[in-house]
This record gives sequence, structure tokens and C-alpha cells, in this order.
Amino acid sequence: MSAENAARVAVIGAGAAGIAAARSLRDHGHRASITVFGEESLPPYDRPQLSKEVLSGPADTVPRVLLSEQECRDLGIDLRAGTRIDALDRTEVFQLRTEGVLLAEAEVVVLATGLRSRHLATQAEGLHHLRSWLDAASLRSALARRAGRLLVVGSGFVGMEVAAAAMSRGWQVVAVEARSRLFPGLGPRIGDHVAAMFAERGLDGRPATTVTSVEGAGPYLVQLSDGSQVEADEILVGVGGVPNDALARQVGAAIGDGVLVDAAFRTSVPGLYAIGDVASCPGRWGRTRHEHWRTAQEHGSHCGAVIAGAEIPFDHLPWVWSDVFDHRIEILGSPRAARSSHTLRSNEGGLVDLHLGQEGELLGVTTFDATRFARKARAATRRAARVDLERAAVSGQTAEAVLEAIG
Ligand SMILES: Cc1cc2nc3c(=O)[nH]c(=O)nc-3n(C[C@H](O)[C@H](O)[C@H](O)COP(=O)(O)OP(=O)(O)OC[C@H]3O[C@@H](n4cnc5c(N)ncnc54)[C@H](O)[C@@H]3O)c2cc1C
Repeated sequence: MSAENAARVAVIGAGAAGIAAARSLRDHGHRASITVFGEESLPPYDRPQLSKEVLSGPADTVPRVLLSEQECRDLGIDLRAGTRIDALDRTEVFQLRTEGVLLAEAEVVVLATGLRSRHLATQAEGLHHLRSWLDAASLRSALARRAGRLLVVGSGFVGMEVAAAAMSRGWQVVAVEARSRLFPGLGPRIGDHVAAMFAERGLDGRPATTVTSVEGAGPYLVQLSDGSQVEADEILVGVGGVPNDALARQVGAAIGDGVLVDAAFRTSVPGLYAIGDVASCPGRWGRTRHEHWRTAQEHGSHCGAVIAGAEIPFDHLPWVWSDVFDHRIEILGSPRAARSSHTLRSNEGGLVDLHLGQEGELLGVTTFDATRFARKARAATRRAARVDLERAAVSGQTAEAVLEAIG
């Protein structure tokens, strides 16, 4: 048993990472108290459904609950929903406070505080962001009221999914994107394919464009960087998130793009761990901060095990998915680390981008409607298998045939 196994653990943040950590601590036999603080006055829930089923489904659609009251009782987890920790001190032990009131002391603190929405430099009343269940409820009720004109700022996953949900409800959507192509995270080939699919359904996409000013409070008059103007009834700002690292800063933890941790999620402050979207971790492609649900889950599970004294190596293969209209997009591994990308057809009729390193090793895969392939490609990506693309190009092989050839 590790010394920390007898330690009181406080988890700050009741999202995917924090809840996975609390569960994993108990699964690995941690016996001392576990308290989870969650700012939101709601049961802990999963975020991916907020921009999918919650926006496009029936009015009573709710995201998946991560930990029920019954499970808290069964697992002996003290969940304090609706409690924001605004001060963290460390003397002999950590002290957690809200508005000056001491709420808990703990030998070990796990920071799982996630991100907050990034805002536009130009502020205006009533702009939508999408990070919490409350955000989703507000956007959903605006979209359900009537079909109007929506401006989506930013064409990352959230912007893309909101645009699809609004268009499915009959809204006219304009999407502005600062980079030179729409959906830049998908790479040029699949990004352009998705952009064409949206254009066919009526999306007015404006790449290489930013918002310079917003007037009004709905309807809005929006000035764009190319000199044009757009009128919109609602605006969704989907320009990414900022790590909630304030508590880590208060105790002097090293910060970069997020809270810097080692391969066991230890920060530079003894007893303080960081996991999920807020954590910047070393990995096979260098230090990275992922904003993926699966990563947050695996961080939490692993960190809980480490605190409870288990020695399990952490070998993480990033994976993120998105659902738009009736299509599934997946990204596996690290397209960013690749030297070249090659597009192939899949047997399922979808598209596959193979992202290769200098020696032809498989570093990542982006797929459009090729779910079975994405699942099969995990092992080859994990071991960075060499891909013979010349042969594939000559014989017009499908992505599956290429995968089979590398065994
Ligand atoms: C709309 C949306 C759609 C997404 N879709 C996908 C998808 O399709 N696929 C995918 O892989 N990923 C998706 N993601 C990303 C995924 O949800 C995140 O990677 C994951 O939720 C990260 O988990 P986390 O626990 O690190 O942070 P979060 O889920 O953000 O949880 C952090 C929690 O900490 C709380 N908190 C912050 N500060 C404090 C404090 N001081 N005191 C107490 N509590 C605090 C916050 O209120 C929040 O509840 C999506 C995200 C969003 C917002």
C-alpha cells in the first residue's frame, strides 16, 4: 500500500476526469476519504452529448450522468455539487476554501477543473458558448423557438456540431473560420469533404474570416474582417477553451499550456495531481494537452490507480470522435506529428487519411464514416507500423487492404 493510500483525497472538478479518478481510487482499494467538489449544481454529467443529442433531440434529452447518488453512497464518495473551490493553500496539508471558508483539508489534491470557454475580443449581450449543460439548455431553447439565422464563430468540433444541429432544425447558418479552410482540425482532404457536405445542405462558410464587431443584442449586426456584414438572430462562439489553472498557480505549480504533469499526473507540487483537459502531459509525441473525452477518462482511471499505489504504465493513444448529421468523424493518434497524409477509400464507403512519419510509420488516422476501420487501426497506430503507400497507390488498395498488408 502506498503512503498516499491512507491519505485524504480531494478531487476538484466533477467532470469525466474527476469522476473517473474517484471511481478508480476505490477500485484500487483506496480506503481513506474521497471528496469531489463540482462547481455546477447538477449531477456530474458527460459533455459530448451537449452538442449532439441534447441540441437535436427531444426537449427532455439529458446528458449521461457520470455518478449517481446511489453510487456515491456505495463507493463512499462525498460529492459536493454546486461548490466552487476558489482558494487552494498548502502548508502541512492542502486547504480548500470557498469565499474564505475552509471546506476541506487533504493530503492529496487532484485538479480536474477542465476548461472555460474562450470569448471573443468583441463582447455583446446574449452570445452563446457551449461548455455546460446550462449553456446547452439555453442554446437548445433558442434553436427550438423558431428557425432563424445563426452565426457560428469557429469551425472546430463544437462549431461544426452546432451548425449541423441548427441546420437540421431549419436554421440558416453562416460559419466564420479564422484559418484558411473550414474545419481545419480534420485536415485538408476530409475537411474539404465535410465542408462540401455542409455547403450542399446550405451552409454559408467563410474561411479566412474573423469577427471584428458585433452590434445589437439579438438580432445582431456582425462586421466581418473581409468587410462584409452578417445579420444573425443568434450567435454561437466556438473558439475553444482556456485551461482552469488558477488553483494550480496559487500553490506555485509549474504551468505551460495547462498544468504541467509527469507520466503519473504529478505536478511540480508534491501531493498535487492534474488530469483531463487542464493537464499537459508527456506522451509519445511530446508534451500535449488533449481536449478529448477518452483522454480525460483514462487520465482519471490512471491517476486514481497511481494514488492508490498501483504501478501501471500509462500508454495513451488519443482518440476523438464527432457526429454530424448522420456521419461519424474520428481522429486517432497524432495527425499533427505527421510528415505526410494520404487519403484512401475504406470498404465501408468512407474516407481515411493515414498520417505518416518520416519513415512511413503510422502516427495517426482521420476517418469519415469508417468506424470499423478506425477501430482496427488502433493496434497499428499504437505500434507505429510501417505503411507501404507506394504499393497501395499503384494497386488502388482500400484502407483496409493497406492495414492487412502491414499485419
Ligand atoms: C459541447 C462539447 C462537446 C464535446 N464533444 C466531444 C466529443 O464528441 N468527443 C470527445 O472526445 N470529446 C468531446 N468533448 C470534450 C470532452 O467533453 C472533454 O475532453 C472532457 O469533458 C474533459 O473532461 P474534464 O473532466 O477534464 O473536464 P470537464 O468535463 O470540463 O469538467 C471539469 C469540471 O470542473 C468544474 N470546475 C472547474 N473549476 C472548478 C473549481 N474551482 N471548483 C469546483 N469545480 C470546478 C467545472 O465546472 C466542470 O464541471 C466535448 C466537449 C464539449 C464542451
